[in-house]
Amino acid sequence: MKKEYADVVVVGAGPAGIAAAITLARANKEVVVIERGSFPGSKNVFGGAIYCQPTEEIFPEFWKTAPVERFNIEHKFAFLGEDYGTVLGYKNQEHSKKFNSFTVMRPKWDRWCAEQAENTGVHIVNETMVTDLLEEDGNIVGIKTELECFYARLVIIADGVNSILARKAGLRNDFRPKDIALGVKEVIKLPKETIEDRFNLEGNSGSIHTILGNPMNNMVGLGFIYTNLDSVVIGIGVSLEDLSNSGKKPYDLLNEMKKHPAIRPLIKGGELLEYSAHLIPEGGYKCIPKLYGNGVMVVGDAAMLVNNVHWEGTNLAMQSGKLAAQSAIIALDKNDFSENTLSLYQKKIDESFMMKDLKTYKNVMDFIKNNKKIVTDFYPAKASEFLNQFITIDGIPKRKKYFSFISNLLKERKLYIFKDIWAFTNIGRSILLK
Ligand SMILES: Cc1cc2nc3c(=O)[nH]c(=O)nc-3n(C[C@H](O)[C@H](O)[C@H](O)COP(=O)(O)OP(=O)(O)OC[C@H]3O[C@@H](n4cnc5c(N)ncnc54)[C@H](O)[C@@H]3O)c2cc1C
Repeated sequence: MKKEYADVVVVGAGPAGIAAAITLARANKEVVVIERGSFPGSKNVFGGAIYCQPTEEIFPEFWKTAPVERFNIEHKFAFLGEDYGTVLGYKNQEHSKKFNSFTVMRPKWDRWCAEQAENTGVHIVNETMVTDLLEEDGNIVGIKTELECFYARLVIIADGVNSILARKAGLRNDFRPKDIALGVKEVIKLPKETIEDRFNLEGNSGSIHTILGNPMNNMVGLGFIYTNLDSVVIGIGVSLEDLSNSGKKPYDLLNEMKKHPAIRPLIKGGELLEYSAHLIPEGGYKCIPKLYGNGVMVVGDAAMLVNNVHWEGTNLAMQSGKLAAQSAIIALDKNDFSENTLSLYQKKIDESFMMKDLKTYKNVMDFIKNNKKIVTDFYPAKASEFLNQFITIDGIPKRKKYFSFISNLLKERKLYIFKDIWAFTNIGRSILLK
């Protein structure tokens, strides 16, 4: 058994781990990142968008050299019924000058980020699985791989959603299926011009689609489409609890969604390049564990830091990595790795935009779960029904149509309509008021 030393060992070369490592290396600290994949990003799965502003805090003007696919100028929300749908969209050419988000492919993107870290002095060890933490007198003093022990003054756990190490550090419990979603996705190859025609895009601009309603089969979740340069990513993420209760296979759900008349033409004739699945922490604010202990901090998905309302994960991962590293720099300079010193990291997280956002949405998942049918099915279907009547020219006087729509709505929901209004008002209040 060999003993090695570094200022900090980071476990995992995803966005959280690399952001932590590069921040430390820029402050001339000695950092080793241990990654189980054959290279950073080789095993990593996500939908498709990284957000410009928070990413730039780590990698200024990254788009000039990084392997980005398209800059997104449009976001559509499709509320789909069985063979119909209502689509709301927002498109802004301004985002082709002032970038908001880019689609990237994780194997290429993570690898590029890791190269930037290596150029700053970070040492990355690939193809090495961390199996345990080393503990002495109640302090974490390093990590254990299958072959050796690696000692460090501090350990940063960035091993993703299923973090074994955060559990070993006593910071997290096993996750509950209701706090986790399973995401499955396909990458479908299509010619660049076909993508631009079908999605009404020019040059390297891109479009994001969020899909709600019928394809989720009454489960809490949503579908997504992202455009790359010459491929389209299509996928769904649904609550693990709902999925296991339904007995359905995630791949079957995705296949059904691909057949929907609003989706089918977008991917028609494409060649399947890749299929992958991954867990997503969806519990939000109420599930965030304690983020530090003696000699250890936990960042990114391992700390359940995902804003599932906006599907922001990579930016929370990078930001938490950066804040943990800033706290580590102070601890290293003081030579004090106690909980007391590292609690600074928790303080920084609590004061950050990410915790404020997570707090804003703290009741949203419970609201959706408790009102699943009306939120994911009934009211979206009613909105489509209203629009259908609005556009159909059939000789029925318009006022008669409006009254018949309202009377049907009241007949179907009866007095429950007051309960719905109460539920929507409460969630609105919880989001808007502190
Ligand atoms: C289907 C899907 C779609 C998504 N879409 C988006 C999106 O569009 N935009 C967005 O911002 N976020 C999205 N997310 C969320 C985002 O991917 C995550 O929040 C983000 O990747 C978290 O980064 P991380 O570094 O914490 O963890 P990860 O990216 O999971 O990285 C963890 C790293 O640790 C390594 N590792 C794990 N265990 C060990 C071990 N024991 N030893 C050594 N190495 C280990 C892994 O190989 C991996 O490289 C999506 C997620 C999914 C699943």
